Amino acid sequence: MGSSSYDFANETVIVTGGSSGIGRAVARRFGDAGATVLVADIRESPKGDADRPPTHERIERDGGSAAFVETDVSDPAALDAVVEAAREFGGVDVMVNNAGVFRGGPFLDIDAETFDTVYETNARGVFAGSQAAAADMVDRGVAGSVINTASISSEYAQVNHAAYDPSKAAIMMLTRVAALECTRHDIRVNAVAPGPIETQINAETESQSGVDDSGLKKPNPMGRRASPEEIAGAYLFLASDDASFITGHMLYADGGHAIY
Ligand code: NAD
Repeated sequence: MGSSSYDFANETVIVTGGSSGIGRAVARRFGDAGATVLVADIRESPKGDADRPPTHERIERDGGSAAFVETDVSDPAALDAVVEAAREFGGVDVMVNNAGVFRGGPFLDIDAETFDTVYETNARGVFAGSQAAAADMVDRGVAGSVINTASISSEYAQVNHAAYDPSKAAIMMLTRVAALECTRHDIRVNAVAPGPIETQINAETESQSGVDDSGLKKPNPMGRRASPEEIAGAYLFLASDDASFITGHMLYADGGHAIY
């Protein structure tokens, strides 16, 4: 079995949270497919691994074109600014709203400030990023695609996830509402819902929630975590013409976690 190759030459793709983990793999895969990639993150180097080269440098080294735009997705103005920055490269064609944070703690203890921090980054960040990109596509009169990183947590509750799981559930519904209203502008809005993926946030989730994969109420059917690279193709598929009749959909990339 080989992997599919897509052609995103002449397209500009913004990936929030593109400096590490899933976003980094998605950004590099779009770069390999010929896209101009804007990595929008609060940090330039991969989280927890400052020695690895920044994503945009890796894409450039592989012959692609890319840039880093320092962006805090909890600030709606910063998302407007990165969409504006994409105009220098012809304007955003694909917006990947992927940045996210995890803060754990028991439902009875977690404070409102923590809830707000998680919600503002994960849910409001997706709202503002989708809105900024779609509005720009409408202004330019172009078709486009928005892809949001949801989670198995969008539908399944876990202990000590009182801030994270509601923020991810909001992403699922934001994806549907935005998709519904954007069809008339030829803009598709979809989500990828990863299961356990080997990244920094996964390690933080385990240490803060006290629940590791083996302790989940439902063990993962495949019995393992995936690498970020293993699920990156799902984003390219949803952005591609192969998915031209797919909108408002949440595609699980979860080793079967959601099926039972
Ligand atoms: P990660 O920690 O490796 O990557 C998250 C990235 O988001 C980092 O580069 C970080 O700097 C960036 N970021 C955090 N806050 C930001 C902000 N305010 N503005 C801009 N960038 C910010 O973790 P990951 O697993 O790659 O996470 C990516 C997405 O995948 C998140 O939305 C996460 O909730 C989701 N997810 C991850 C898993 C998993 O098991 N790893 C499962 C389901 C969903």
